[in-house]
Amino acid sequence: MRASAYPLIDADQAAALVLEHTPVLGVEQVAVGGCAGRVLAEDVIAEAPLPAFPSSAVDGFAVRASDAGKTLRVVGESAAGRPFQGAIPSTSAARILTGGVLPEGADCVVMVEDVQLAGDTVTVPKVLKAGANYHKVGDDLKPGDRILAAGTQLGAAEIGVAAATGRANLPVRRRPRVALMSTGDELVEVGKTPGPGQIPDSNRWALLAALREAGAEVNVLGIAPDEPEALRKLVVEALREADVLVTSGGVSVGTHDLVKPLLESLGTVHVGRVKLKPGKPFTFATLGHAPLPDPLPWGERVAFGLPGFPVSSLVTFEVFVRPALRKMQGFAQLQRPSLPVRLGYDAKPTADRTEYQRVTLHREGRELVAETTGSQSSSRLMSLAGAHALVRVPADDQSLKKGSVVEALILNLP
Ligand code: AMP
Ligand code: MG
Repeated sequence: MRASAYPLIDADQAAALVLEHTPVLGVEQVAVGGCAGRVLAEDVIAEAPLPAFPSSAVDGFAVRASDAGKTLRVVGESAAGRPFQGAIPSTSAARILTGGVLPEGADCVVMVEDVQLAGDTVTVPKVLKAGANYHKVGDDLKPGDRILAAGTQLGAAEIGVAAATGRANLPVRRRPRVALMSTGDELVEVGKTPGPGQIPDSNRWALLAALREAGAEVNVLGIAPDEPEALRKLVVEALREADVLVTSGGVSVGTHDLVKPLLESLGTVHVGRVKLKPGKPFTFATLGHAPLPDPLPWGERVAFGLPGFPVSSLVTFEVFVRPALRKMQGFAQLQRPSLPVRLGYDAKPTADRTEYQRVTLHREGRELVAETTGSQSSSRLMSLAGAHALVRVPADDQSLKKGSVVEALILNLP
């Protein structure tokens, strides 16, 4: 074992360094059919009013309010997509269907339930109100209105409103292309029987799921051995096509831990150790040196060396990698949402390290109550499986006793 050459950095400072060195990716035009989950790169502004024409809200008759109480001649029909041609003459009406254009001359629509029909005439109620029962031009949007803001994630309603204004394509940020690699001579492919001292490579699949949820396109590279040249070759090759490298394992101070020196030879290591539990060996670098290709227009490639212990790799993913991937995609909101929760247990702090404790949540009355998932050992994946939230316990903070209320990062609500 060697002593680490890297300074222990405060967890918040490390998170800030990661974001500072993470570029925002470029913009591409994507057809609305492929925009679900993507992030808008620019505001979308209405060019034309919506609705574009006055359209009936009901089935009935388009008339003049001044003809209230009269018997009117029905001169034609305005159906959705098939407008009445011309204007309706005085003391006449046009049959109109929902979505039909209000004909010229008419200033209101009477519902079919409120009239008396006889042959080709219709008798309308004694009281009519101009403007009734139709949508006015620009009711929904006026030209120049901001429809959607840059940084918005596109879901069903956002895609719908963009399509309603005739936008076939939208400017969205590129998804980060991530090369994912596990390191360690002890790892075997999941499904193969481990030999003596071997374990299945579970991090690869856990991190793949986490990366996809965060919006990344992932190139899964498999297992790299604890051998410097082989690892270097794999990484350099992978980075030709990637914006981001994510590795797990090989970042602690054992002699087989090769990731930090490799990243250092390819760029700059900004974070080499963090005052964080779990996740002290977390490593972050920007990669710009030969033999890598030149930086892309929006900046250098970034690399995350995650610790090997499964919980450490996923917690450091949450704390550092996920916000960075969201920055790359232009999200306005980088962090998980947080909610106040009442602690159902004494959250014991760790000396000199910020700890992210895994908790389940349940409701008691109007409150969310957090219970620990049990032993918080970084080798115990069951402390994260089924967890609903992370409770951040500052170093040496003795105040987080059972019953106190803290903000928790919500992973998913029960
Ligand atoms: P390391 O950071 O390489 O020293 O790894 C620490 C420990 O994490 C190892 O001893 C393994 O128990 C575990 N580990 C490392 N890589 C993986 C992986 N890909 N999947 C599951 N466990 C792993
Ligand atoms: Mg290892």
